[in-house]
Amino acid sequence: MNEQLNGTNVILVPILSDNYSYILEKNGDVAVIDPGQPEPIINELKNRDLTPSIILNTHHHSDHIAGNKAIMDQYGATLIAPEKDFHRIPDIDISVKEGSPLTFSSEKIQILETPGHTNGHICYYLPESKIIFAGDLIFAMGCGRAFEGTPEELFNSLQKIKALPLETQIYCGHEYTLANAEFCLSIEPDNVDLIARHKIVKQYRDNNLPTIPTTLEEELKTNVFLRAENASTFADIRAKKDNF
Ligand SMILES: [Zn+2]
Repeated sequence: MNEQLNGTNVILVPILSDNYSYILEKNGDVAVIDPGQPEPIINELKNRDLTPSIILNTHHHSDHIAGNKAIMDQYGATLIAPEKDFHRIPDIDISVKEGSPLTFSSEKIQILETPGHTNGHICYYLPESKIIFAGDLIFAMGCGRAFEGTPEELFNSLQKIKALPLETQIYCGHEYTLANAEFCLSIEPDNVDLIARHKIVKQYRDNNLPTIPTTLEEELKTNVFLRAENASTFADIRAKKDNF
């Protein structure tokens, strides 16, 4: 469990082969983010005696939503998901877009529309706790594939992450960090921060420890996708990664 600012706690739940779901807890209020598989999350909730009132989905891919129904049935949780995915995420109670008012335990949650990986992809940003749930937009030293959008859209979405405070804790949807570090080193072999981070990440993974959350500050130093200065450089790097 990672204790954050304002008494906000984030519990990382490994699911499927390399996904992470998250349980957010503050003052007894509980949210589940991107439940791609029900059992591990329900077990974790039971072990900690937590009852979620809301589920937040970042996008429609099944490894982020497949546990929605079981958690809704078990706890009566309200499903909050992107408005643009209304036709393809079942059982949405509240659909949201950039600017939609949303609060969790009296803290504001800001919705960022971040298309590229999918057209409807959104991120959930908690400015007071300085946390973002970023789904498959950005990973530690990586970013999502442009499945539905263009590389330029993905680049523009990443600029929204870049504009957040440096200390923002980024909770993403997958443990791809070691492979991403290796790819980043192929682009920037002399980046000393990257060389050092690769070593640390390798140790974490050798011990089967998660490398998440990451921070925006770390990503700005080591994530070649975030470091790309323009959309065309970004598109080149994204194409290389697709064939790495
Ligand atoms: Zn996805």
